[in-house]
Amino acid sequence: MEIKKGIAVSPGISIAKSMVIDSEDYRIPYRAIEPSQRTSEIRRVKKAFSDAIEELNQLEESYDNKGSQIKDIFAVHNRFLHDRSLQKKISDMIRSELVIAEYAISNTFREIASHFANEKDAYISERAADIFDIARRVLKHLLGKKREEIGNITEEVTIVARELSPIQTAGFDKKFVKGIASDVGGRTSHAAIVARSLGIPAVVALEDLTSVVNEGDTVIVDGNRGIVIVNPDENTIAEYNEYKDEFTELGYKLNTLKEKPAITRDGTKVTLLGNIEFPNETQTVLEKGGDGIGLYRTEFLYLNTTTEPTEEDHYNAYSQTVKAMKSKPVVIRTLDLGADKYTQSKRFVREPNPFLGLRSIRFCLQNLMMFKTQLRAILRASVLGNVKIMFPLITNQQELMQAKMILHDVMEDLSDEKIEYNQKIPVGIMIETPSAALTAFSLAKEVSFFSIGTNDLTQYTLAVDRGNELVSTLYSTADPAVLRLIRTVIQDAHKAQIDLSICGEVASEPEYIMLLLGMGVRTFSLASPMIPEIKQIIRSVTITDCNKVARKVLSMNSERHITSYIRNAARKIIPEAF
Ligand code: PEP
Ligand code: MG
Repeated sequence: MEIKKGIAVSPGISIAKSMVIDSEDYRIPYRAIEPSQRTSEIRRVKKAFSDAIEELNQLEESYDNKGSQIKDIFAVHNRFLHDRSLQKKISDMIRSELVIAEYAISNTFREIASHFANEKDAYISERAADIFDIARRVLKHLLGKKREEIGNITEEVTIVARELSPIQTAGFDKKFVKGIASDVGGRTSHAAIVARSLGIPAVVALEDLTSVVNEGDTVIVDGNRGIVIVNPDENTIAEYNEYKDEFTELGYKLNTLKEKPAITRDGTKVTLLGNIEFPNETQTVLEKGGDGIGLYRTEFLYLNTTTEPTEEDHYNAYSQTVKAMKSKPVVIRTLDLGADKYTQSKRFVREPNPFLGLRSIRFCLQNLMMFKTQLRAILRASVLGNVKIMFPLITNQQELMQAKMILHDVMEDLSDEKIEYNQKIPVGIMIETPSAALTAFSLAKEVSFFSIGTNDLTQYTLAVDRGNELVSTLYSTADPAVLRLIRTVIQDAHKAQIDLSICGEVASEPEYIMLLLGMGVRTFSLASPMIPEIKQIIRSVTITDCNKVARKVLSMNSERHITSYIRNAARKIIPEAF
């Protein structure tokens, strides 16, 4: 039995056999072959290389914006895929070690990548990432079918991985994927956010978990305490089964709050909205008693396809959600691509600092066709219900004006084409950069609402990567610098009399609720499985107490003191939440 401690990112307990996968869902099996199979395995290698070359050529043709950096990347990939000595090395391994093609390819590429990674010259050492990319490209053609099997898991498993992308996580079937455990990641990394939305217990930042777990080991994921136990003994399993039942019982109790309002003991009404990534999550928002959708992360529509979604693809997704929510609000956020949410083609553009690079609204403003396609679809869906548009990662007034101007152009086009849309559709922005927070007073004049994205606001204020476990102890929204920015935004929104909500992960963290209520937040948007718990907290507190907590916290200078103070304050009132 081995116990590992990581960061709890999605609550709940699971006990299941492990399935170990790599970052592209590949399980690289080691299998010995008979000498008579050598020729057919070598033929499989050749075929995989030629399929990969064909795929690369098609991708290169479809990529319309070929800057010199992209050309370089295509050139590197092409050179490797055409390198006969590389294919010979792989074939030699199959011949001499009698192993299957997948294993020989994976091993050979790994060996080359490690040579590159050890080079002192930064340009050469950075090519190691390209080598892994090329290996994945080739393996994809060999393992295509096995890869699909991961999407079609038919028995209960715990997924164990070094790192998971948001799109991998989104593809998991909750019926069979009972728990998630990864070596890397942070509480607000997008894979963690998706796990929380799906309600799958998850623990990240377990460092070397993948090196101690073998496929088929029994693994307990304790998403409440951030613990993972590999091959637990019988007593531990019994103890955890009991704990799991208690947790399920608590969930049933909380669900009875569905029809009750989110109102404090002294009568202040609070609105609880859901964050979603896919239209089918709308159902969970309604089941959990959400008052609407406060953040629709539309980029997920983009991530798992190699082709650009059409206007109809966008429209179908939005109309389905809007219709299901009837008259309840649906805030559709325009594409927030980039950083850890990249498109298939954007994978080729390796940015040195992707979180500071061409992401989000910046990416949209440089890809107008794509942006306008989405805006048309949102506007068309706006007549079906209560739709609002939200622009992400605004950093200055000019960017906002540009985005609004494009929206206006699209509206004119629709009017010319006599297509119906809501001409008064509310337009808002996310406040998730310090520059937007510090100029909130002027941005407020241009929009109908703000939504504070604390995940990015914390990352950019403290200069701490939200997904990097090496600096995860430095990442805290309770830092006085972040809280001061949040306070400024709330005050400026109130002064300008525009709506304000908070949609970062702190909206689902029990210890933050009293503080945020005391700071003046009345609308929270969060992972829908957490709505009942947060509602119970709201129903247990008074605004008078919350105001006291906020006043005290805003006079404090240390993140550590603030964190322990808000936890204690919340624990006193609602001990069962901790
Ligand atoms: C945020 O940054 O707080 C946010 C809600 O957006 P995302 O997590 O999608 O970046
Ligand atoms: Mg964000």
